[in-house]
Amino acid sequence: MIHQRTLRNPIRARGIGLHSGRQVCLTLRPAPPNSGIVFRRVDLPSPVTIPARSDYVGKTLLSTSLTKNGVTVATVEHLLAALAGLGVDNAYVDVDAPEIPIMDGSAAPFVFLIQSAGVQIQKATKQMVRIRQTIRVKDGDKWACLEPYHGFKVDLTLDFDHPVFNTKSCSLSIDFADTSFSREVARARTFGFLRDVEQLRKQQLALGGSLKNSVVIDDQGVINEEGLRYPDEFVRHKILDAIGDLYLLGHGLQGAFSGYKSGHGLNIRLIHALLQQPQSWEIVPCTHSTVSPEVNLSLEEPLLQAC
Ligand SMILES: [Zn+2]
Repeated sequence: MIHQRTLRNPIRARGIGLHSGRQVCLTLRPAPPNSGIVFRRVDLPSPVTIPARSDYVGKTLLSTSLTKNGVTVATVEHLLAALAGLGVDNAYVDVDAPEIPIMDGSAAPFVFLIQSAGVQIQKATKQMVRIRQTIRVKDGDKWACLEPYHGFKVDLTLDFDHPVFNTKSCSLSIDFADTSFSREVARARTFGFLRDVEQLRKQQLALGGSLKNSVVIDDQGVINEEGLRYPDEFVRHKILDAIGDLYLLGHGLQGAFSGYKSGHGLNIRLIHALLQQPQSWEIVPCTHSTVSPEVNLSLEEPLLQAC
């Protein structure tokens, strides 16, 4: 059996909020066994806690937001992906603003933070959500699906009508029995089209967005001077988003996720559809054979190569 994990020490970081453009202070703290991941808005007169669970999902436009009693924490998915990818079950996430800082638009800075804080093994057994029956949701030609699988696998396909997507691979399947989140997924940045930026800013969205935290595409191609971190960075980022959203099940997943042109909205609808059908899933103790090598790693091994 594998045991639950939390952070060994608290750790703090500062960054820009993607939507507000303001400075946000983020602190990750250890939490007791069976707490799950819990967000806390510490800037309010009385702090509000919001568990990282799908029943608290609010808006899913551009990012995934959690909302409780009118209080929001937005852009939770990249941090959740890092926590899921490194097998951290329990942590308090304190923020002094309504969003998690965007950092460089990927999960790599959060992986680095978790690695720097250290990981503490806890007494309780780690639990997983095991998929027992296939669940599928659709929106026009877009769809997302969860199927029974012995380990954890993500299969995703993008389809944008733009030359940059015709020349790069837009379809990718990653089986986490063979490889690691840190290596294959963590460094993939969020992306967007230059033509959409003005529209978003009129809606007071993406005010903190820049070439430092997103891959931006104009009519010709990628405008970031440094280019892409992976040839297929776009689809890898969508996989990162899906892993973060799926962690709102409250546990790691034993199953296979596939998506076609899927995003936050469909990912969350898929979780709701699954939870509404109790015969389709069960909570099981986590064994070595069903999690990625990363979650089995010796805690002393470096989890992220230098970026
Ligand atoms: Zn994202």
